[in-house]
Amino acid sequence: MIFIINTTLDADVVPTLLYITLVFMSANIFSIPVFVTVAITSIAFLTFSFIADGGYRDEKQISAYVRCLVALTTITLLALRSKRSSENLRRKEAFFMGAQKLSHTGSIGFMIDKDETISWSAESARIFEYPREVTPTVALIKDRTHPDDLAVVDGVLQRAARQEKHLEAEHRLRMPDGRIKYVHMIANPLFNHDGRVEYVGAVRDVTASRQAEEALFHSQAKLAHVTRVTSMGELAASIAHEINQPLAAVITSGESCKRWINRPEPNLDEARRSLDRIIQNSCRASEVIACIRALSRQSDVQRNIEVFDDIVSDSLNLMQHEISSHQVRLSVEARAQSACVNADRVQLQQVIINLIVNACQAMAEIHDRPRSLRISTSVQDNEAVLEVADCGTGIAQDILATLFDPFFTTKQNGLGMGLAICRSIIEFHGGRIWVASTVGVGTQFMFAIPLTVPGDHK
Ligand code: ADP
Repeated sequence: MIFIINTTLDADVVPTLLYITLVFMSANIFSIPVFVTVAITSIAFLTFSFIADGGYRDEKQISAYVRCLVALTTITLLALRSKRSSENLRRKEAFFMGAQKLSHTGSIGFMIDKDETISWSAESARIFEYPREVTPTVALIKDRTHPDDLAVVDGVLQRAARQEKHLEAEHRLRMPDGRIKYVHMIANPLFNHDGRVEYVGAVRDVTASRQAEEALFHSQAKLAHVTRVTSMGELAASIAHEINQPLAAVITSGESCKRWINRPEPNLDEARRSLDRIIQNSCRASEVIACIRALSRQSDVQRNIEVFDDIVSDSLNLMQHEISSHQVRLSVEARAQSACVNADRVQLQQVIINLIVNACQAMAEIHDRPRSLRISTSVQDNEAVLEVADCGTGIAQDILATLFDPFFTTKQNGLGMGLAICRSIIEFHGGRIWVASTVGVGTQFMFAIPLTVPGDHK
């Protein structure tokens, strides 16, 4: 351009420079159609003044006019090209930002170095709730991170420092007004600057789906509570018997204790033995009552480290009468060897009780063979496994798949929610429940939940 201006520095150069300036300015200010109109008008004016001044008669002026025309046209085309690409860029950015906003996903780039340099998109700034103009830093991210989840962020930074291929984490943010947000971050290394790796990733605001999951979880827990209380109503007679039995034993032992003491020569040894039986049976009654209270307590889920076999034997304590009233012979094989699980005791008891009740009901119509129920626990592949095997009617293969669906029942007064709730409880514990059955032979329900080591808090 300097060359063109230098070689055209004659009478026509000043208007040409003015036209060029005008074209540049309109390229910056106006849309493409207006800009093209301005450019064509400038060329038209240049040509008009060339003709009006009679420049076509002078060879020198013709060549000056051609040079100006070439300069103006070239600059118009160049400006048009750059305007098109910048508009394309703007459109792409708008699409990109629109998609980020709609999907609540921001982009983020970072490098593990002294300055812990970060860059992020407008959506990432919105997710972390910082003004767009604030320069992002690791410190700002940590500032927003929930104090209990800082270790998660530090873990990601450490893995990035080790230049791991794939980073993924989910953690909570705590906003200045106390609101909690959940974000899911995923990043991969993209560039390598002299041994320093730059990660590029996405940050997604998953608060809405986590809240929906929590709401679903609470309604499931409430439903589990309601069905637990309902089934306790159905088991009331059996449960009352479980309390009555030790109370009757307390009375009998109390009376015999009185007799041993009232003898002319009191037999204190026998009296002591009677008292021991009284204490034993009172404890048993209070254990049963504690179990019932726990089963009917509010629906809040409380996971603790529990001994798996203890949960099973607690459930059996409540079911002894139910089992014997169905003339069922019970055999128990507790082989989980003090294996611990991180579980809500009451919820697991609910599952076990439900499986036992179903097994007893499935054997109610069996008269041609002994009704036997086998309950066994074991440890397999880092999981605590429970099997409830009956020799009842069995289940047809074609309905096995629908058994765990809500409201599936073959019983006249059944609700069909028992197994559906069992499955949601087991899945909540990170486990799985399954069934095997042969019609006319019997059914085995099994569930497995991950083991935990005491001191672990998942
Ligand atoms: P409900 O007991 O109210 O019917 P469940 O969800 O507990 O609801 O059980 C669903 C169905 O699964 C039962 O109606 C029954 O047909 C079948 N079922 C469950 N356990 C057994 C079992 N041990 N033997 C045979 N059928 C069973």
